[in-house]
Amino acid sequence: MKYINLVHFACFFLICYGEKDRFDNYRVYNIEVNDDAGLGEFQKLEESSSRIVFLNEPNIHQPFQILVPPDQLANITELFERSAVKNEVQHENFQKLIDEEQPHDTAYGGHFGWDRYHDLDVIYAWLDEMLQKYSSVLKNHNYGKSVEGRALRAVKLSKKEGNPTIFIESTIHAREWITAATTTYLLNELLTSTDSEMQHLANNFDWVIVPVTNVDGYTFTHSTNRMWRKNRKAYGKCIGTDLNRNFDYHHAESGASSNPCADTFAGPKAFSEPETLALSKFVKSIRNIKLYISFHAYSQLLLYPFGNTRQNAPNYSHLDGIAKSATEALSRRFGTKYKYGSIANAIYVASGSSIDWAYATQGVKLAYCFEFRDTGKYGFLLPAEQIIPNSLEVIDALKVMIKEAKALKYF
Ligand SMILES: [Zn+2]
Repeated sequence: MKYINLVHFACFFLICYGEKDRFDNYRVYNIEVNDDAGLGEFQKLEESSSRIVFLNEPNIHQPFQILVPPDQLANITELFERSAVKNEVQHENFQKLIDEEQPHDTAYGGHFGWDRYHDLDVIYAWLDEMLQKYSSVLKNHNYGKSVEGRALRAVKLSKKEGNPTIFIESTIHAREWITAATTTYLLNELLTSTDSEMQHLANNFDWVIVPVTNVDGYTFTHSTNRMWRKNRKAYGKCIGTDLNRNFDYHHAESGASSNPCADTFAGPKAFSEPETLALSKFVKSIRNIKLYISFHAYSQLLLYPFGNTRQNAPNYSHLDGIAKSATEALSRRFGTKYKYGSIANAIYVASGSSIDWAYATQGVKLAYCFEFRDTGKYGFLLPAEQIIPNSLEVIDALKVMIKEAKALKYF
């Protein structure tokens, strides 16, 4: 009896305090496919293999990366030979990238800053601090609860009545840590910057900001598996729905999986997940949203509707023109190059995304999805020293986006 108790204690201890999945000697391959046959091979592999992690969706427009455990190297080599796709080893040991993502100084005492990535508790504590400090203009919104009971939180910055609203939705995919870091940086700039253009944006627009949409998944990436993407609701033996395939607009039609084990599982029905259902109700409760922006990583893309079809959106020329100017502005500071286009045309067909839903069902005429740095060198494991450069160039893009939208009378 004593022995069993000890074992239980050990299990409890391990699960609760820091046993993280390791990726020792996992290889990252960079892959380019040029035809539908090659694409089909990798789409099949994505559906069928639970061991190989797709770091982004296979597509024929640009290279994508997969993460291969040592025991799958023979299988993947065989597939490469059979399908004759272009492939190269980008990293020999993925764990090394994970180990190098955060700075290693020991002086860190839990303070908030943009020199490292923070977990949900630290981000929420910082939000509370900001809410207290700027209580006359910044309000808290607890708009729901996650599967595991965590608070879904937004803040709203409003300095005067009647401002048009910009909605920022961030970190709907758990492993995209740079999105939460950039979102908090943006909020901090709106609250504290002395730059006149930034002050203009803070004074003349209401900003509703969700720093972490997928709170359970994000927490899981810090505690257990750095590569987790979905939320944490169980469907049979598999866990998680891709929240950005779960919105109620052409739900699960294409570019989403009906297999609960897949990383792009759309959920059994639209808004089946508390995180998306609560977000949709929250968005509906806010009048006057003129611009909806979803922050993702990685690939360096600025995307707009539609994802479910290659057809152009009604105001395509405006969506495209604004994206062109915004990506030009983004590249000016550090030379970071973004591509732009509709989701379906620039990368792949994907239905049930938040920006399609906001655009097509909520009357938000400008909806964009940023895919931040980089293009695969570090992928999701963007070193923390790039948080501030990424944030600065994204803010450059936002400034131009808003200026052009105003000139086109969207505000
Ligand atoms: Zn994403």
